[in-house]
Amino acid sequence: MSTHLHKLHAGQAQSEAAAAPEISFPTRYEDIMARVAAIDPARYGRSRNFLNGAITYLSPYLSRGVISTRQVYEALLARGFVFDDMQKLASELGWRDFFQRVWEAKGEDLFTDLRQPQSGVAHRELPVALPAASTGIAAVDAHIGRLYATGYLHNHLRMYVASLACNIGRAHWAAPAAWLYYHLLDGDLASNTCSWQWVAGAFSSKPYYCNQENINHYTGSQQRHTYLDVAYSALPDLPVPAPLRATTAPDFTTPLPVTSAPVIDPALPLLLYNSYHLDPQWRADEPANRVLLLEPSHFRRFPVSETVLAFIQQLALDNIAGVQVFVGEAAELAQLARVPAIYTRQHPSSGHYPGTHDARAWLVPEVAGYFPGFFNYWKKCEKVLRRQQAGS
Ligand SMILES: Cc1cc2nc3c(=O)[nH]c(=O)nc-3n(C[C@H](O)[C@H](O)[C@H](O)COP(=O)(O)OP(=O)(O)OC[C@H]3O[C@@H](n4cnc5c(N)ncnc54)[C@H](O)[C@@H]3O)c2cc1C
Repeated sequence: MSTHLHKLHAGQAQSEAAAAPEISFPTRYEDIMARVAAIDPARYGRSRNFLNGAITYLSPYLSRGVISTRQVYEALLARGFVFDDMQKLASELGWRDFFQRVWEAKGEDLFTDLRQPQSGVAHRELPVALPAASTGIAAVDAHIGRLYATGYLHNHLRMYVASLACNIGRAHWAAPAAWLYYHLLDGDLASNTCSWQWVAGAFSSKPYYCNQENINHYTGSQQRHTYLDVAYSALPDLPVPAPLRATTAPDFTTPLPVTSAPVIDPALPLLLYNSYHLDPQWRADEPANRVLLLEPSHFRRFPVSETVLAFIQQLALDNIAGVQVFVGEAAELAQLARVPAIYTRQHPSSGHYPGTHDARAWLVPEVAGYFPGFFNYWKKCEKVLRRQQAGS
């Protein structure tokens, strides 16, 4: 994608970005665990919707399987918090697992409109205003600029961007979702795909709309007289505003490195990691060949930026002793490696890997299967978590 599209609009947009806290995403496990140890669940509950709220910034590590939702929850229990102290955060961790369960149950259908077709679709392209950060909504444009710099976007901003693209701009969710996924360090095909569909009304009972007042309230911006500066009732009937009319067919590619075949000790098992499975604690004490597998077929279908790819590799290199990066297909590697056993971890993206697929850590492993909506899923999870607490 050409860099001129990444340039921020000067003036108002830049001053909006200045209001948000500086963020960065360290890759060393100790720093990640320090972030877990610093969670303030009460402040989180009160402030998560605001740009400067006490959010955890853990999503890149949860998405990449460095840590699990269960691990975060247990770290809070170990600090003496009980379920009621961390209800809001627990339910957000639940959203991640809920979406993963949807992917697990639906497989390929995750990538189609899940509950009903998105209504009012005018095209299946990407509104140019997203990559160009030129929606005309200053807070949104400023934070798209920050997305390119940090690989992160606050949840509310993600909702605003998706609502602008799909519900005001009338794009089908798939192309803009691929654009956002390309740039997110925490890119998670389940959370991303389901959330875009949720905003667009394909995986929810109705589309999500935001007006200028809502954006000003949560982002601290003070913009007025935009096409969103109207009552909620007027939003569904807005003609597509001029800044959202131009569209493009995105053509993203992942700049995968060329690697040589990994050096494999044939006496030891092979442990397979990938961009969603980078847990340094997994089988950590076992002598093994450890390979981070980057499959070209996966990244052709779901491209990520150079920054995201570098982040994935750094998480592995910093924390998994002796890991070798291999760009190739799982089948090629299985042929290369004549080893006594191959292990990986269960995940919908790696069902085709050879060997034993160890169970993954869920917040509530007892609640599995497809739920068309979060609240029925979470009611069941909450019951289990409260029961566990009463029994402990
Ligand atoms: C259009 C759209 C696209 C999204 N795409 C992704 C994506 O690709 N990857 C991704 O990890 N999240 C995605 N999300 C969900 C959410 O925006 C991020 O998980 C959250 O902003 C991450 O920041 P945090 O870790 O500081 O969250 P916190 O608020 O601190 O939450 C803690 C954890 O709870 C989970 N969580 C919180 N909010 C949500 C949510 N709305 N949905 C699912 N899980 C949640 C995440 O694991 C998060 O790390 C998307 C949301 C929207 C609206």
